Amino acid sequence: MFLLFGLRSKDYLISVTTMICEVCGWNAPQTLIRRTTKFTLFFVPLFPVRPSRQFLSCGHCQAYRPAPTGTYQGTTP
Ligand SMILES: [Zn+2]
Repeated sequence: MFLLFGLRSKDYLISVTTMICEVCGWNAPQTLIRRTTKFTLFFVPLFPVRPSRQFLSCGHCQAYRPAPTGTYQGTTP
């Protein structure tokens, strides 16, 4: 008998807002992404193993950086 288990991370698009990027300094669309990591058993995600984290991605320089949780609340497209 064998068990197939692991972790799977999935990204969810929360909002897209235009603001000045902290990395490149351009006024570009910033994508707010929430990443959740779940324990999987036989490729079926069962439960989260860590709190979800939020990231900002710049549309101009493609920089990917952590966002403070709860700071950026935009409208869902
Ligand atoms: Zn940028």
